[in-house]
Amino acid sequence: MLDCAIIGGGPAGLTAGLYTTRGGLENVVMYEKGMPGGQITQSSEIENYPGVTGEISGMDLMIPWPEQCQKFGLKHEMVEVTRVSKEGDVFTIHKADGSVDEARSVIIGTGSRPRRAGFAGEDTFFGRGVSTCATCDGFFYRGKEVAVIGGGDTALEEALYLAKICKKVYLIHRRDTFRSAPNTVARVKRTENIELVLNAVPEEVFGDASGVTGVRVKMNDGATRNIEVPGVFTFVGYDVNNQVLLQEDGNFLCDMTPAGEVVVDISMRTSVAGLFAAGDIRIAAPKQVVCAAGDGAVAALQAITYVDELLSH
Ligand code: FAD
Ligand code: NAP
Repeated sequence: MLDCAIIGGGPAGLTAGLYTTRGGLENVVMYEKGMPGGQITQSSEIENYPGVTGEISGMDLMIPWPEQCQKFGLKHEMVEVTRVSKEGDVFTIHKADGSVDEARSVIIGTGSRPRRAGFAGEDTFFGRGVSTCATCDGFFYRGKEVAVIGGGDTALEEALYLAKICKKVYLIHRRDTFRSAPNTVARVKRTENIELVLNAVPEEVFGDASGVTGVRVKMNDGATRNIEVPGVFTFVGYDVNNQVLLQEDGNFLCDMTPAGEVVVDISMRTSVAGLFAAGDIRIAAPKQVVCAAGDGAVAALQAITYVDELLSH
């Protein structure tokens, strides 16, 4: 029986792992279906993690985190969790390999994943010119022209990254104002090889057998424009990874918002005793590494108290 099962190995899960093990819980396992580190490992640059100055990539930021946790006894299983259920005081962790584990408490830190924009050709050409990761795929377009779709922090930051590698970046946004931080917008506007294509809705990515050859956008005035590029990067937001909480009867294990985020209180407690959520998955998450890490610490401290009380009964 695990004291605590942590689902997801991003900033929230890893911090929860650090605090639960350092705080005295024994038998804590963190389940991660990919590499530990979470989404931020896809970011080319992070400049708002406190105390970390200078140019640092998301990958570099996250590399030391798993080792720090393992030092205090956190175990790591590289497996996808398919479902978390609860009967009495015991949680069952159902894994993709068919095996199950049991735990007294659970911290959900499964984060979020890139959303599809929904234009024609997006699925057909995904991985053949359409990408959601500039750090992973930007290099393939070195010296070439690419398009970036979106107007949030991710789109603008990744456009800046691509502008360093590529000949030109067309930044396509459906409005003429951005969600992104003003400082980032200013940097984009100062970058000579970024062309802003505003009030433009992407309609279709087109191409041939070798991959993408361009993207067609519809301007607000009704005109259409073909932008000929071999690479199209979409950064149009994220959906939360809440599938592990979906039960066999079609209901979620705990209370959720209509958007599918986990409802938690200020202590990261969900509506189910012993179940905590942290990071991007939870209601009103600021979607920042520092906040996910903070949530992970809060959830861990609560899990320690919960398990202590459970065992003292
Ligand atoms: P995630 O980082 O999403 O980690 C969740 C982990 O859970 C993943 O590793 C996933 O593989 C795993 N997982 C999911 N489902 C399962 C399952 N069923 N079984 C097992 N494992 C599972 N924030 C900033 O503060 N500053 C920035 O500059 C910044 N830049 C960003 C740039 C990009 C390109 C992106 C995508 C995000 C950026 N963010 C930034 C946001 C930041 O990355 C997130 O807010 C943060 O990573 C959330 O952490 P998390 O632990 O909640 O979730
Ligand atoms: P986001 O803020 O939700 O922005 C998504 C963008 O995509 C919006 O500009 C939106 O347009 C556009 N969009 C959505 N659907 C579209 C569609 N179907 N077709 C075309 N455009 C579409 O997402 P994000 O930029 O990924 O950021 C997610 C969160 O992570 C945010 O909270 C962000 O602050 C945070 N983050 C922070 C940092 C940082 O702190 N440095 C870096 C990255 C991410 P509209 O504006 O018109 O809606």
